[in-house]
Amino acid sequence: MDKPLLSVIVPSYNEEENVDAFYRAMRDEVASTHYRLEVIFVDDGSSDRTLTELQRLSKWHSNVKYVSFTRNFGKESAILAGFQHAKGDCLIVIDADLQHPVELVHELLLGFEEGYDQVIAQRDRKGESFVRSTLSTLYYKLMNKVVDVKLENGVGDFRLLSRRAVDALLVLSEGNRFSKGLFSWIGFDQKVVHYENVVRKNGQSKWSMQKLINYGIDGIVSFNMKPLRLCLYAGSGILLFSLAYIVFTFFQIMRTGVEVPGYFTLISAILALGGIQLVSLGIIGEYIGRIYNETKRRPHYLVKETNLDRGIRYEKAK
Ligand code: UDP
Ligand code: MG
Repeated sequence: MDKPLLSVIVPSYNEEENVDAFYRAMRDEVASTHYRLEVIFVDDGSSDRTLTELQRLSKWHSNVKYVSFTRNFGKESAILAGFQHAKGDCLIVIDADLQHPVELVHELLLGFEEGYDQVIAQRDRKGESFVRSTLSTLYYKLMNKVVDVKLENGVGDFRLLSRRAVDALLVLSEGNRFSKGLFSWIGFDQKVVHYENVVRKNGQSKWSMQKLINYGIDGIVSFNMKPLRLCLYAGSGILLFSLAYIVFTFFQIMRTGVEVPGYFTLISAILALGGIQLVSLGIIGEYIGRIYNETKRRPHYLVKETNLDRGIRYEKAK
């Protein structure tokens, strides 16, 4: 029988200094296993020489595949493109910047051979700025209270997926892809392996605070309806409270007559209600925006260039 094929999916956005080193490191690592390797780089509309590097690399090495987007569509779309083009029996999603240690491949494959469909790499947060790690920890605490799927701190996209787990992911066709949530949503037997956080060597992180905050909001609203319900609860709570207050004031007036006009109570009621209404509207707007996006049914990405001759896997299967 043929050796099993491992597809490694590498979303790459402005990683010109990293792709070559990454490929070499990965190839050397996989060489000591009994897997054949294909590395699929997804150039997410880089503005540097990433694509040129990939073209050069793929000339020399036949197991280097690349898909290059027409613009920056985001890491989630890059991962999806990787899934759609990979032919492997198992797939690994990994960053190009060597922050995800390639040595972990052995442990991931071991998990796969033990029969797990998802082998998840979880990192500690060493070397990360205090603000960022505290914010993330808080975020995950909040998320897990709010969303319907379980998300864990330090767990990212770095993981191994079996062919059937990937096929399951490909069936989920939503436009707004929050992959952490999707990975958790499909379920299957999962195993967690741990690694130490590594500080990025070349290039810069593409995640600004703004991007991270947007990503966080995406995560919350793409996986549940609970924020909408929260508006409902908050609204009802405040309504009850106001009713009670109205009744109370009414009897107060009946007993003692009209007092000094209650500027304080009035202004606080107006401000609080106004605030809550705006927040609720914002939340509803988020959902409506998402519905709007989904109804447009736009593709997740457009391909400018690729060295893969075969079409997208799951479209062929239709
Ligand atoms: N990435 C991408 N598209 C983007 C942003 C990032 O494909 O719009 C890739 C990037 O090239 C890297 C991975 O996603 O391989 C993780 O990005 P980065 O290292 O900037 O994130 P961090 O490690 O700081 O979380
Ligand atoms: Mg990184």
